[in-house]
Parts: sequence; C-alpha cells; structure tokens
Amino acid sequence: MTIPAEFEALCANDADLATLRTAIRDFLAADRAEFGWQPAVDCWLAAWDPDFSARLAAAGFVGLTVPVEYGGRGLGHLHRYVVTEELLAHGAPVAAHWIADRQVAPALLRYGNEEQRRRLLPRIAAGTLYSAIGMSEHGAGSDLAAAATRASRAEGGWRLDGTKVWTSGAHVAHQVVVLARTSPVDPDHRHAGFSQFIVRTDAPGVTISPIALMNGEHHFNEVLFDGVIVPEADVLGEVGDGWHQVTAELGFERSGPERFLSTARLILEAVAALGRQGVDERTAADVGDLVARVVSLRQLSISVARELSAGRDANTRAALVKDLGTRFEQESVEVVADLLEVLDEEAPEAVRLRELLAVARLHAPLFTLRGGTNEVLRGVVARGLGVR
Ligand SMILES: Cc1cc2nc3c(=O)[nH]c(=O)nc-3n(C[C@H](O)[C@H](O)[C@H](O)COP(=O)(O)OP(=O)(O)OC[C@H]3O[C@@H](n4cnc5c(N)ncnc54)[C@H](O)[C@@H]3O)c2cc1C
Repeated sequence: MTIPAEFEALCANDADLATLRTAIRDFLAADRAEFGWQPAVDCWLAAWDPDFSARLAAAGFVGLTVPVEYGGRGLGHLHRYVVTEELLAHGAPVAAHWIADRQVAPALLRYGNEEQRRRLLPRIAAGTLYSAIGMSEHGAGSDLAAAATRASRAEGGWRLDGTKVWTSGAHVAHQVVVLARTSPVDPDHRHAGFSQFIVRTDAPGVTISPIALMNGEHHFNEVLFDGVIVPEADVLGEVGDGWHQVTAELGFERSGPERFLSTARLILEAVAALGRQGVDERTAADVGDLVARVVSLRQLSISVARELSAGRDANTRAALVKDLGTRFEQESVEVVADLLEVLDEEAPEAVRLRELLAVARLHAPLFTLRGGTNEVLRGVVARGLGVR
C-alpha cells in the first residue's frame, strides 16, 4: 500500500526521517532500560541530566543541524524536529543541553565568528555545554526594549552591569547569552543600541540567586552582573545589532514541538491507561478531541520547521504555534484531570498519573508566559498579517 503524500507530511516521516525516528525511539528504549530514568512532564525545563545529554549526543542526536565540521550531524530542521518530538513524547531528561542546542547553536551559526564556532559548537554537539538566555529583566519582559543592563567599553573588552531575571538554568549553566545596551536609549529607535554577549557564569562579578517555584523546585534565577569584564572575543555578532539577532532567534525558540508537547507524557499515559480499562462513548470523544488537537498543532509546527529548513523567516508563524500550542498544553491538563475521574483508583497506573498531573498543574501557568506571553504574541501575529 502506498501512503498518500499528505499523510507522509502529517507524520514528518519521509524515508530518511522515518529511519531517524526509529533510531531515536530505539535509543530511548535502550537507554531507559539501562539507566532507569522516569519520563517527565515539561522535561525540557525540569529534567536536568548531564549524563543523559552526553549519551544522547554520543549517539548522534544532539547538534543535528550543526555542520559536521563543527562536530554536528549537518542535517536539516526537519530531522531535528523528528528527534525533538520523540524526546518530548518520551519525556526524556533533556533540559541540560536544550537551550544550547535549540537556540545558541543557530545563533552562533548565523552571527558567531569562526573562533566562537570552533570553540563552542563542538561542545554543544557533544551535549556538554549548558547555556542560559539572559533577556528578561524586572520591568523589561514583554517590553524587552526597556532592558537596562548595559555594557560599556573597558580594558580587555566590555564591562557589564545589570540584573536579569527568570534566567532558566543559569545556576547549572556554563554561560548566559546576555542582551545589553551598548548605546544610550534613542526614544525614536528604542530597539537600536543593543548587543549580545556570551558571559561565563563563573566570571568575577556574576551572582546567581534562585527563584523557586511554589513547591520549591529551582529552575529559574535572578542573575546580577556587577562590573563583569567580558572579553571582546565573547561579543556575539555585531555591536548594536542585538535586537535583530534576538528576534531572529525567537523563530527557533517559539515554533518547536516543545510548545505543544510539554504535557505529552501526561496525555499519552492517561490515554493508554484508559484504553486498557475501556471507556464510554463520551470519554472516547474527549480523548479523540485531545488527540485531534495534537495532530493539528503538529502540522502547524512541522510547517514552520519546513520554513526554517528553507532558510526563510518564520517569526509570525512561530508566534502562532506558540500561542495555539501553549494554550492547548494548559487546557490539556484539566481535560486529562477530568478523564482521570473515570480511571479506576485501584488501577496500577493511578498513582503515577496523579503525580504527573500534579507536576503538570504546577507548571501549566508557565506555558503561556515563557518565550514571550501569548497576549504579546497575538500582536506579533496581527502585525505579521499587516495590521498596524
Ligand atoms: C518558565 C519560564 C522560563 C523563562 N525563562 C527565561 C529565560 O531563560 N530567559 C529570559 O530572559 N526570560 C525567561 N523567562 C521570562 C519570560 O520571557 C517573561 O516572563 C515574559 O517575556 C513576560 O515578561 P514579564 O514576566 O516581565 O511580564 P510582563 O511583561 O510584565 O507582562 C505581564 C502581563 O501583561 C501582559 N502584557 C504586557 N504587555 C502587553 C501588551 N503590549 N499587550 C497585551 N498584554 C500585555 C502580558 O501578556 C502579561 O500577561 C521565562 C519565563 C518563564 C515563565
């Protein structure tokens, strides 16, 4: 039987993608059997396991889009999409290398100089470089142009002063990619005069303080830069071009499957448990609705991956994926909570599902905030459609 082309597209399963999908599934099954990690909800933020990241990279599943000469696989965004989707669907502990692989590698390839690429990309592709992103500040989240962290020329490079906030993983990262003002604010061009710096977290003058979630989980931080000297070699891209650079990165940050699969483990395990138990028509319809939404979001996200593969700008579409996808993630938590009402309390999976649900509930408010709030992204979508 031939599979119609639209269904191949639906699954991102053209021949070499299907081979890759099988390979990552086999790796995950074998790795979990040997090392015993538990699939997690919101694994790309919360499940930090450097050994797993290194094993994944050694098996060739990190740095997929990084050219071979820098230690990567030299494959396309669709290959990366397939691997990312499988990692999230399996709830694998990917947080350690996630931001470096997703965001910093493309930024280095687009804006970094040769020395930076040779120094950093092989470590990213080896899953051993952990990076945080320092954009948001108190009073400069949605309105990022209000960022007040400043960098001024100093002997040996730049002197950095300011405070970043909500910096995910900074306490365990090797570096933070910081957006800072390098010229005074021009009220007519608020987005001008920014630059990006790669700042080592062990540099003198860097102080990282935890911001805990309500249950005590520690993922994000406040990061103080007090007279930190950043060598010239660690300026990323062009001085003064920082705004353009960070907005270009957002296409990668906002469109991936992590914008609709953060609750995948909860959904998949709940559906599997209900399937084993058997459900009435109404519950079956709710499951069907949930799955249909995942499939549609997948289509949308794959279409952005195809745009990125073709080297085209996909910022508006990426914003759309993030808005619809993260709303789905949030809603999925309560839909699954309702579905679990019909699961036999004595079922062997009941305890684990309740644990997954509790984590998903705790993280759900974060889904629509991180990577730019959905309210703001709707404005991006409208402007992308020509609405001023
Ligand atoms: C889990 C998580 C991880 C994060 N990780 C990082 C990180 O690693 N690095 C980093 O730099 N940042 C990170 N952030 C910060 C994130 O990018 C910001 O929280 C986000 O951009 C919103 O900024 P804010 O929190 O200052 O809210 P504000 O900008 O103060 O917004 C408050 C509310 O007002 C609404 N609002 C604001 N402006 C408008 C407008 N123009 N129109 C309509 N509504 C508006 C917003 O939608 C929101 O509901 C993270 C956030 C979360 C939740």
